[in-house]
Amino acid sequence: MGKHGSRRRRAGGGFGMILAEWSRHRHEAAEKMPTLRVALAGNPNSGKTSLFNALTGQHQHIGNYPGVTVEKKVGVCYHDGYRVEIVDLPGTYSLTAYSLEEVVTRDFVLRDKPDLIVDVIDSTNLERNLYLLLQLQELGVPVIGALNMSDEAEETGLEIDEQQLGKVLGVNFVKTVGHRGEGAGELLDLVVRMARGEAQANGRRLNYGRELERERETLRRALAADEYFAKKYNLDWVAIKLLEEDEDAARKVKREHRVGAEVLEEAAAACERIRKHFREDSVVVVGEQRYAYIHGAVREAVRRKRDRTRFDLTEQLDRFILNRYWGVLVFFLVMFIVYQLTFAIGNPLSDWIAAGFLRFGDVVRGVLPVGAVQDLVVDGVIGGVGGVITFFPLVLLLFFGLSFLEDSGYMARAAFVMDKFFHLFGLHGRSFIPFMIATGCAVPAVLSARTLVNQRDRKITILVTPLMVCGAKAPVIAMLAAAFFPKHAGFIFWLVWLAGWWIAFLVAYLFRKTLFRGDAAPFVMELPPYRLPTWRGILGHMWEKGVSYLRKAGTVILGISIIVWFLLYFPKPAQFSRDYEGELAAISVNLASLAEESGEAADSLEAALHRRSHVLSAQRAREELVNSYGGRIGRALEPLLKPAGFDWRIGVSLTAGFAAKEVIISTMGIVYGIGEADPNVESSRRGGSLRSRIAADPAYSPAMGLALMFFVLIYVPCMATLAVVRKEMGSTWWSVFLAAYTLLLAYGVAVAIYQLGILTGFGV
Ligand code: GDP
Ligand code: MG
Repeated sequence: MGKHGSRRRRAGGGFGMILAEWSRHRHEAAEKMPTLRVALAGNPNSGKTSLFNALTGQHQHIGNYPGVTVEKKVGVCYHDGYRVEIVDLPGTYSLTAYSLEEVVTRDFVLRDKPDLIVDVIDSTNLERNLYLLLQLQELGVPVIGALNMSDEAEETGLEIDEQQLGKVLGVNFVKTVGHRGEGAGELLDLVVRMARGEAQANGRRLNYGRELERERETLRRALAADEYFAKKYNLDWVAIKLLEEDEDAARKVKREHRVGAEVLEEAAAACERIRKHFREDSVVVVGEQRYAYIHGAVREAVRRKRDRTRFDLTEQLDRFILNRYWGVLVFFLVMFIVYQLTFAIGNPLSDWIAAGFLRFGDVVRGVLPVGAVQDLVVDGVIGGVGGVITFFPLVLLLFFGLSFLEDSGYMARAAFVMDKFFHLFGLHGRSFIPFMIATGCAVPAVLSARTLVNQRDRKITILVTPLMVCGAKAPVIAMLAAAFFPKHAGFIFWLVWLAGWWIAFLVAYLFRKTLFRGDAAPFVMELPPYRLPTWRGILGHMWEKGVSYLRKAGTVILGISIIVWFLLYFPKPAQFSRDYEGELAAISVNLASLAEESGEAADSLEAALHRRSHVLSAQRAREELVNSYGGRIGRALEPLLKPAGFDWRIGVSLTAGFAAKEVIISTMGIVYGIGEADPNVESSRRGGSLRSRIAADPAYSPAMGLALMFFVLIYVPCMATLAVVRKEMGSTWWSVFLAAYTLLLAYGVAVAIYQLGILTGFGV
């Protein structure tokens, strides 16, 4: 607004002056208007941002993926004599303090106390969305429900009677269509009427049933002992949060309540009584009670009418996809296709980039003076970071596939199908979500395990999700698959990916039987309709992942590559096993004299001398490498790694991979760059891409390749994951445990595969 105004003023002389004056008046008038502060809350993708834009006329970026609206955005509009300030809060499913989004939303409501909250509801997914509404209501701030996506709900045959729903839940509802701005005016009318006290909702409070209500009342009375605390917080809310074993509420009580410790003790006893009574964690009981209440309300106010076209297609597809037996198979098959396509398209692109980096390295070698600096830049930086960037297309394609599945509504179904399957292994169906997130990165996956309310389920999930193939392990395994099994790379990759799931299942089963006894809690998940994903959503997601991959390559991996290079380059041996300098000098003298002669004999002699000189330089480089710090580490590990078929070069790479998995590639790039390949390999085969160098190495066999892939899959999660596990599990001991069990398991599996390979003849 301001920008346009000033431009006009400059351009338009007299008329501009009038406009400016008018706009100033309007502005002043607006300043005098009473202000209403309204917050938009709601589930992710319920259309908050669309509605925000419709209300304020602003254009915020609309994204189809979580994580777009992490911070809150503020806009203003004027309606019926009020200045309405609107805040677009991040999307959340619930108000437990599990994720950053939830904390931001909850703290905003608690601290900033908006006059009103508009809960934007995805009407096609009413029950799950009302769960949040209920919790907002409990916070004690007036709530309006915007029944958004009402167009889609109608299309799928849902008839929502908003008057009836309002009566049952004690909340006023308005139907809206966010992206078209329908219902925005009615919504503002309702906001103003509620502000004026003309449209009161009776604000019914959910009854949690006899047992829970009794405990809640006890806690409320205990909390009321501190008057100051009672004035600051809604005690009913704090009491129910304590029954939900909410850490954030517990912290507030502990810090701010006069007799906080006593209250917490009482809360713990109450939870224990509930657990005894219901044979279920009290947090689960509270959640179930809310869902039961919502379920009843929805039955009162919503009718399902069959719609022939779209509904039937969904139903037909679902009959197949949601089949108890087929469904699991379909899921693994779908992923197989995704990986096949990823490799079919991605591998040629990767080769292309690899060739580019090789040429780039040659150019740089030509420009920089011979010496350590040249070696650092070419072998350390270009070889290391270049090796990682080479797999950029694979990373992009992988996330393209995954985002497509997610946005189309398939992933929610996969979760549904996998639920039963997960239960077989003592895992909660919701663990599927951390598992899928872990195919991107284990760090957010571990955090997302917070959505598991049962602590045992959550801990098991945290301890096994790092076994998935994540975005960092993927390129390493992909590179190895392509090097060792060039014809079946996609299949082998899928196999390892699948093995990650199975190993996670089996380990979870073991943990359930030993460390965390007890049954997994049941699980409710709604199924969204199938949607054709938008390009914007998929590309946006892919871009986000791609950028973070490149950023990591340019920072962490660059740093580690340089350190690794130093460790592999120094110290230089004091003495070589033979006089390389002298022999090489003699060869070049011979070559110089040969240059004057011609004829077949001279040519073949020349070629032989060239070959000899290459072999000598490679041998010298190898001796240097073996003598380096890194080489010594590798050789010290070699006896230990021998049973799995790994040599010292792999030992060095795996050691470096403790920091971050991508570093395995960059380290191999450096090891093979400095050391060249085996001296017995013909010179024509040297100097190719890392993949072709590994493929050409006679010491390496398919059995060893497979053992190595499994080792990379299973062994110790990266530093970042260990750190977040430590935080989430609340003790260092658990991350040590995680590191130890994965290392041992990786070793055992790798040795088993290699030894089996030798027995069956794949080990040579
Ligand atoms: P947010 O995550 O809650 O901010 O949701 P967005 O505003 O980003 O909306 C998610 C997607 O839903 C976008 O593609 C919107 O165009 C679409 N959308 C929003 N409101 C409606 C609606 O009422 N009906 C339909 N059919 N689509 C909507
Ligand atoms: Mg948004």
